[in-house]
Amino acid sequence: MQKHNLYLDNAATTPLHPDALAAMMPFLTERYGNPSGIYDYARETKKSVDEARRQIAAGINAKPEEIFFTCGGTEADNWAIKGAAEARWDKARHIITSAIEHHAVLHTCQYLEKRGYSVTYLPVDENGTVSPESVEKAIRPDTALVSVMLANNEVGTVEPVSAIGEITRKHGVLLHTDAVQAAGHIPIDVEALNADLLTVSAHKFYGPKGVGALYIKKGVRIAQFMHGGAQENNRRAGTENVAGIVGMGKAFSIAAQELPGEYARVSALRDRLISGIEATIPHAKLNGHRHDRLPGNVNFSFAFIEGESLLLLLDMQGCRASSGSACSSGSLDPSHVLMAMGIPHEKAHGSIRFTLGRHNTGADVDALLEILPPMIARLREMSPLYEDFITGKGQVWNTAKK
Ligand SMILES: *Cc1c(COP(=O)(O)O)cnc(C)c1O
Repeated sequence: MQKHNLYLDNAATTPLHPDALAAMMPFLTERYGNPSGIYDYARETKKSVDEARRQIAAGINAKPEEIFFTCGGTEADNWAIKGAAEARWDKARHIITSAIEHHAVLHTCQYLEKRGYSVTYLPVDENGTVSPESVEKAIRPDTALVSVMLANNEVGTVEPVSAIGEITRKHGVLLHTDAVQAAGHIPIDVEALNADLLTVSAHKFYGPKGVGALYIKKGVRIAQFMHGGAQENNRRAGTENVAGIVGMGKAFSIAAQELPGEYARVSALRDRLISGIEATIPHAKLNGHRHDRLPGNVNFSFAFIEGESLLLLLDMQGCRASSGSACSSGSLDPSHVLMAMGIPHEKAHGSIRFTLGRHNTGADVDALLEILPPMIARLREMSPLYEDFITGKGQVWNTAKK
């Protein structure tokens, strides 16, 4: 029945690169040694973990000893924020973040608020951009940490983190950035960003699920998060996920190598999809920054429709997309990101995210542009709001205003 086979949800997760799988296989089979041992099997796996550490470090302009493996982006975000806050409890109990962070950051900050820290949630403009000036204004003598993501997972806006980093450096405040959506897709240089802490996750760049890393700048002290053995230079306990770590290193080095070409190719597909939607579907508004944007992200609000209904029609045609963050599906609350951008409830409910990746082609964009306009027309025909609009009783939100 399905007419198409389109995967347009690469911001939720990406398929494992076959070369990453091949690199992992020996560690799921014969190379099972625990890297903490002293015999040959252990030395072999230890060497491979350290090779992956070099691969991650090289891709973000860090030193290998500044890379610490975790069980994913969520753990790295939790560790960075709780660890930085806890290490400064005596002197500094204020944290600054933005209203559009991933829940791994927002819910961690909310948890710390209950434990006696105070948190400032910075607003964003209509493009989803955090202004560096707002960061500077929010800094207090007791500010311990600023955490602003490098790129937003829902609307794709790339944040001015290096300008924010100049401010945090000047004030002697730590800077963490959640770079999960950016890593492998746009260039990352921890020095240029002035970042002290930076999070990455393998499954967002064609590595395996359940493995990530935290960059901790040399000399930066944060409290330990996982307590136990002496792994990861005594800073993150737990037997290493060797296969996952090796797969992550391989996937990241491939992504870094292919980045310039893929960035150009995927951005061109994104721009074709954006202009195609704008040309064929009335009352459609692009969400997120038009230019400072992740190469694969296309997020639109379509007036008079429910995003969830559109997702179901798309799914019936074999097209996989998302209405914001996968983590919020099942909840009826509109996306906190779109709300923070000042997008009204009804518009936020009609929002859909398509995220393109390395397997998408021009034919995928053409296929989507073929099926999408009639679906939206059909949903609008059934919408009482649209009925009111065409009979002159209702009004559309102003789409002309950029
Ligand atoms: C996916 C994601 C995370 C969580 O990473 P996991 O490895 O899935 O735990 C954190 N932040 C952002 C921006 C993400 O997109």
